[in-house]
Amino acid sequence: MSSIRFKSFTSGSCGNCYFIGIFDESGACEAGVLVDAGLSPRRLKKELAAEGLCFDDFAGLLVTHDHNDHIRSLGSYCKHLRKPVWTPPELAGALSRHFITGEYYGPCRRTLAPGWNELVPGRISAQYFAVPHDASCTFGYALLLDGYRFVIMTDIGRMVPQALAFARQADTVVIESNYDLEMLRHGPYPKVLQDRICGGHGHLSNAECAEAIRDFLHPGLRNIFLCHLSEHNNTPELAYQTSSGILQEYIRQSDIRPPRLCPLPRMTASPLFIL
Ligand SMILES: [Zn+2]
Ligand SMILES: [Zn+2]
Repeated sequence: MSSIRFKSFTSGSCGNCYFIGIFDESGACEAGVLVDAGLSPRRLKKELAAEGLCFDDFAGLLVTHDHNDHIRSLGSYCKHLRKPVWTPPELAGALSRHFITGEYYGPCRRTLAPGWNELVPGRISAQYFAVPHDASCTFGYALLLDGYRFVIMTDIGRMVPQALAFARQADTVVIESNYDLEMLRHGPYPKVLQDRICGGHGHLSNAECAEAIRDFLHPGLRNIFLCHLSEHNNTPELAYQTSSGILQEYIRQSDIRPPRLCPLPRMTASPLFIL
């Protein structure tokens, strides 16, 4: 039987890059895509090789927004790999003007239409939705991989109805759990930056993430991955405990198997999860 597999290479303000793909019975990758380019191609090559994968195993790249930690290596991906870079038109415009993407982005630029877009014909489709994070524009993605429903939303700002609607139908959700409000308020950041982070256009707190999970939990949900954890204002334990509290309530109220809940590491790669 084929399987859907997911790996985070790095997640947070240090850089963001994720892989999702369809694998055959023997464990060979048949189709895959990357989300965000916050990791150098050199390190990506090494991390892929550690899983027996290579650049040929992803067809192209979806980009969420134009903050450095998500597009730091986009120019060199375009230059060296020449694979499609899929974004909604607004973000494509912003990337074309961005100094980081340089002259190499143009030939790789592919704009997505509203609704489902086929990325890998017959295998992988994607649909975008906007979230209120303070980049030029920011998007989450719903993916369909051989019918498997995968949603990724990082750098959210605050939860919005369309994001919840996709998550309510997903088999797997990757969602931001950026900061603990107490740690943020007593941490090293200046007040103005604290306010930016928690003001509704910055990042999602652990409590807001847990609240979102309560809203989108459904019996078909198999995995929740917590992404973009802050180095200074969060810990994996706190992020896990906050959302886990919601899942415990859920277990008590129903006999449905709760989804796997897993915070993603910031600087290092996660395992290649079989979803
Ligand atoms: Zn970010
Ligand atoms: Zn951002």
